[in-house]
Amino acid sequence: MIRITLLALCFMLNQPGHAETLLVSSQDEFEDAVDDLAPGDTIMLANGTWRDFEILFTGFGTAEKPITLTAETKGAVIIAGQSNLRMAGEHLVVSGLVFRDGYTPTNTVISFRRTRGDYASHSRVTETVIDRFNNPERYETDFWVMIYGKHNRFDHNHLEGKSNAGVTMAVRLDSEESQENHHRIDHNYFGPRPVLGSNGGETLRIGTSHYSLTNSLTVVENNYFDRCNGEVEIISNKSGGNVFRGNLFFESRGTLTLRHGNGNVVENNVFLGNGVDHTGGIRVINANQSVRNNYLRGLTGHRFGGALVVMNGVPNSPINRYHRVDNAVIENNSIIDSNHIELAAGSDEERSATPVNSVFRSNLIYNDGGRDVIAVHDDVSGIDFEGNVLNNVDDPVLETGFVNTALELIPADNGLLFPVDERHAGIGATRDIEVLDRSGTGVSWYPKPDPANRFDTGRTIAITPGLDSLFEAARDTGAGDVIALDPGEYLETKTLVLDRPLTFRAVPGTATIEFERTALFEIAAGGSLKLSGVTISGRAAPDVAGNSAIRTSRYSMLGNYALVVANSTVQDLNTNHSFNFFSLAKHTFADRLEIADSTFRNITGHVFALNLETDDLGIYNGEYISITGTTFENIAGAVADIYRGGTDESTFGPHFELRSSSLASVGHGSRNKSGASIRLLGVQATDIFDNVFADSQPVRVIHTVGDPVTRLGDNRFEETPEPIIQEFVRQ
Ligand code: CA
Repeated sequence: MIRITLLALCFMLNQPGHAETLLVSSQDEFEDAVDDLAPGDTIMLANGTWRDFEILFTGFGTAEKPITLTAETKGAVIIAGQSNLRMAGEHLVVSGLVFRDGYTPTNTVISFRRTRGDYASHSRVTETVIDRFNNPERYETDFWVMIYGKHNRFDHNHLEGKSNAGVTMAVRLDSEESQENHHRIDHNYFGPRPVLGSNGGETLRIGTSHYSLTNSLTVVENNYFDRCNGEVEIISNKSGGNVFRGNLFFESRGTLTLRHGNGNVVENNVFLGNGVDHTGGIRVINANQSVRNNYLRGLTGHRFGGALVVMNGVPNSPINRYHRVDNAVIENNSIIDSNHIELAAGSDEERSATPVNSVFRSNLIYNDGGRDVIAVHDDVSGIDFEGNVLNNVDDPVLETGFVNTALELIPADNGLLFPVDERHAGIGATRDIEVLDRSGTGVSWYPKPDPANRFDTGRTIAITPGLDSLFEAARDTGAGDVIALDPGEYLETKTLVLDRPLTFRAVPGTATIEFERTALFEIAAGGSLKLSGVTISGRAAPDVAGNSAIRTSRYSMLGNYALVVANSTVQDLNTNHSFNFFSLAKHTFADRLEIADSTFRNITGHVFALNLETDDLGIYNGEYISITGTTFENIAGAVADIYRGGTDESTFGPHFELRSSSLASVGHGSRNKSGASIRLLGVQATDIFDNVFADSQPVRVIHTVGDPVTRLGDNRFEETPEPIIQEFVRQ
């Protein structure tokens, strides 16, 4: 840190009574400077890293002469360690700061209040970055931005990589001073938010159910939502009178959800799913909502995560359930190459109040191949359908109010598709809809992340057999490097702790790795592992219970990881009992666990044990678990034991797939508590096809919440009970 004395404090006075700029280089200097601020003054933090800095920025500027806190050079002031920012007063502006390499000791990183009752109004945070400023404990909840007060603006900021629990940004309405607030949230870059694996991963929330019948009057416009995948709600609107306009949602899983509150407008937004799983659009609940002139393309989401979802409500709903859709106007939206439009969605005994007084008009719905993507779950006579156009659907579920005709679309200058036929010019979104440019959001001086390619992007390093060859080679690698094993026998005396994605590759059947510690590989923060063509044997492992070939860090992990095994052999994990192929710790999360074209034999534990989140809080440990083309023989535990308990419905996963594989003598160990060869509790999507089970415990699937889909087919069960599928009964 730069240290200068108070005498060296730089006062740049212009004329008497005019604004000062104070360059401060220590926290003490900052505090002295804040005590003395007049309208028009600027405090400038000296370039460098400010560690453990809880910034309290207070003052009263005026509309013409705000008080500013900024960086000597934007982007060159790093706020690190246990730090945060609170603002209170009026006409305050903060700009140019970067929060990185730390986390807040309180529950908020940037708060528009000092404490309850002492708010910032007419204030602004701009050109500020929060990058992975996460509490290291994944399920310690905190928030990055909390807006209180009125007439505040949050614009041109860059928020990326929130991976602990808690909404990234929220507008609070919990006092009169924060209601009807007229905030503006614009031109921000909401960067990737990885799948959290439980509720609490929203990117933006406005209000809470408790104050949801109050107007917020917040405008959210021209923001870029890039892969905001935390949970089913990208945006959770829970108040009235808000406008969502001109935003771009890029490959983001989930929907803009009008969860509570009335009289909101969603217009001129662009949703581009590019066929990514669970990408969704807009979900409509409550009264007086307008959804118009939005362009939605390539969205795959279903059920509550569809491209457009109009929900059923609960009669006389409590404030935190579902108010019925009343007086909704849904018009001039283009819904293209998207898989699901759900009307009267969620209809059940409780949600029986169908939409009323609503209109659905001049929308364009286009899919190749004439597939009808509209599903009607209850009586939709309360929706007036007028002048919509469908592309040549065979036998459409709704006919009145739809023209069903062959449509040709061509791209306009903005890259979006519009009908060629002039007669359809007034249908769907207008041609002048703006596609937000990512580079124009956030700040120009902080890089935006590229697509995540974990493996095989770096150098290839060849190694020869010997003692600790893998360990030594791994020390000098970069992310994405490949370690290529020459044929022979390898012995590792130390656990390889991986803090970056690495691949270990060999010609199948030529290279065998043994290990002397309780694990061969440990996936630590930042790490991921791919094995290709290697043979792993547990013969040299210690004679203790509970070894693993691979494990995660023993502690909660913020970063999601991947484990991929292909064309490999894993054998003789049997020096003692409960020897797992893969063990994970609570509060860790895999984006994917994948085994393909491999052989596993003689294992005294489980292959994939994802069964530690037993608190039933809706938390789980892996999103996509896939096993294909693989042989399992003599496995005492389960091939997969996946547990996702609780009744919360905020997640899309876990997903499980088993295909073209064979299991022989799997699951008979006395310590295999589930009594299954595959046990799936609370898994949302299961595909089990084309497998042979011999002399094994049954597959057990326990459905819990949501709308779990379990598909089985073309499996053979020899001396193995048929699969047991148990339906959940709500208590
Ligand atoms: Ca949620």
